[in-house]
Amino acid sequence: EISIRKLNKSFGETQILDQIDLTVRDGEFMTLVGPSGCGKSTLLRIIAGLESQTNGQVNISGQPVDQLRPKDRNLSMVFQSYALYPHLTVKENIATPIRMRSYCWYQRLPLLARVLPGAAERQSGIDSKVAAVAELLQIEHLLDRRPGELSGGQRQRVALGRAMVRDPAAFLMDEPLSNLDAKLRIHMRTEIAQLHKQLGTTFIYVTHDQAEAMTMSDRIALMMDGELLQVATPEEIYRNPVDVRVAEFIGSPK
Ligand code: ATP
Ligand code: MG
Repeated sequence: EISIRKLNKSFGETQILDQIDLTVRDGEFMTLVGPSGCGKSTLLRIIAGLESQTNGQVNISGQPVDQLRPKDRNLSMVFQSYALYPHLTVKENIATPIRMRSYCWYQRLPLLARVLPGAAERQSGIDSKVAAVAELLQIEHLLDRRPGELSGGQRQRVALGRAMVRDPAAFLMDEPLSNLDAKLRIHMRTEIAQLHKQLGTTFIYVTHDQAEAMTMSDRIALMMDGELLQVATPEEIYRNPVDVRVAEFIGSPK
């Protein structure tokens, strides 16, 4: 469970997040939605521990996120720009997080690494993990290519693969589909929703696209001007918007 309590954030004099209270249940697909500039990315970055809050607290399984070491937070973040390594192959891109986690000094000496005990097992462990993730994302045939040789949707899948190999407790995604064309975006929407069903992992998904929020989420948290206006299932928020701002954003019937 990820719980956010009385969270405030100011940049200088300007308050960006105003008393945010939100609990994300284990395994839930929670979407943070709201107009551009309302504070979604800031909130997600604070949840990830990448930015500090001014007041309040974020707990992951009861532990304050800012007191956990990054590797113990066990979160995988996917950004709008996928930030793949252009000089590495798809396979190497996906393997990077697990390679880094078990990095040891002798890897800098390839000859030595090859003869030291455990090196081969370790490599085959990484290979089979990457293969499993690639199969799930249907990118097995792309493993030896480089990002420059992939379409936008394929790159997106590689970025997802890289987030998945770590078996995180939660995925935090900030508008991961906004660089894709409309058709691909709708396709990837379905794929991410399916991935969520298969993995059963907690997702916190940020978008300013109301349709994306309505189709993918277990629950929607609707933000405006740094405030959380309503947290509800897509159906509830559509039928019973708390106020006219919510109704207009969601497109509820008048
Ligand atoms: P978008 O949908 O456009 O990505 P958002 O909801 O993610 O918007 P944020 O990026 O969280 O919005 O920004 C919220 C507000 O905080 C904006 O007004 C932005 O200008 C401001 N802001 C964000 N980062 C900083 C910063 N480092 N310093 C000052 N102001 C900032
Ligand atoms: Mg943003």
